[in-house]
Amino acid sequence: MTPPGATIGIIGTGQLGRMIGVAAAQLGYRIHVYGPGPGPANDVAAAFTRGAYDDTAQLAEFARQVDLVTYEFENIAAGPLAALGDTPLHPNARALAVAQDRTEEKRFIERMGGRPAPWRDVPDRAALDAALAEIGTPAILKTARFGYDGKGQVRLASPADADAAWEAIGGQPAVLEGVVRFEHEFSILLARGRDGSTIGYPPPRNEHRDGILARSILPAPAGIARQWTEAAALAGRVAEALDYVGVLTLEFFASAEGPVFNEMAPRVHNSGHWTIEGAQTSQFENHVRAICGLPLGATGVTAQHVEMENLLGDAIDRWADILTEADAHLHLYGKDVARPGRKMGHVTRLKRAL
Ligand code: AMP
Repeated sequence: MTPPGATIGIIGTGQLGRMIGVAAAQLGYRIHVYGPGPGPANDVAAAFTRGAYDDTAQLAEFARQVDLVTYEFENIAAGPLAALGDTPLHPNARALAVAQDRTEEKRFIERMGGRPAPWRDVPDRAALDAALAEIGTPAILKTARFGYDGKGQVRLASPADADAAWEAIGGQPAVLEGVVRFEHEFSILLARGRDGSTIGYPPPRNEHRDGILARSILPAPAGIARQWTEAAALAGRVAEALDYVGVLTLEFFASAEGPVFNEMAPRVHNSGHWTIEGAQTSQFENHVRAICGLPLGATGVTAQHVEMENLLGDAIDRWADILTEADAHLHLYGKDVARPGRKMGHVTRLKRAL
């Protein structure tokens, strides 16, 4: 166990790190954040090391100043993390390597008995034509690496779109996916402790707009509830196979044929923000508990209806009105510039607390 009073190192300085930091402080830990520049997590951090994500000298220096390391986003190369030396890294580098590459991730999920959307590896432009011939259209071309929130992906209505699509993603290794006909989207979040104990959250229904999460709503409709067991079992197998420690997220489409795996994130997730007020223990607290080797907290829902709304771009301007709502819990991330689609904060509304 890493007892309270210890310092948790967090690679990344975004809002997820900020909310891990708040949960860590509540349990008596300090956080020390690492990244190329300050971000929302710096406001709640005891210390900051500035360094590129592949700067092994800076990573080694950072590791010497903390008791363990976690990360709050997955677009960091796994190799340089070896510079952390003996300082424990949770989740481990293998989980990061699998989750940051769509090709690896889909192969891994298939080995675990899960079902991604129909897909083909597209290492180069010629492979795109071959993949289109097999998958058909409509289809979605996604960069294999460094995509998030709908970035690095483009829809193809017909094979004639191939050139433009390849150019739009910058001509880099990609995967082509068939478009899944789904009723709903949902996510499975679980926490797995150092001792292998695992606890899952009830799945929210997630609404996306332009590839970005807009809302998460609980309870999920029957169409998702029926697919929960199968999806949660897959997430459990994934966590065990990776010897995963921390909060893990898998996103799914609820389709007529059952749960279709979309993608996974080796970290706390936007679709788990509702847990701060809507669950007995938040995803952030359970992440801290898991990586520090503490007992995991219960994950029951604390209200009859829970709804998390992301405040994207200008939506932040509604903050003062939201504060007048009795059931609303406002979270602002302290970002200055409200670009369209940028995650500026979120609000969680609880109806009829149990
Ligand atoms: P992603 O970043 O891959 O999670 O994609 C962002 C959003 O785009 C998803 O949450 C879906 O709403 C949509 N999307 C992505 N892939 C597919 C697919 N194969 N079929 C249908 N919709 C998709």
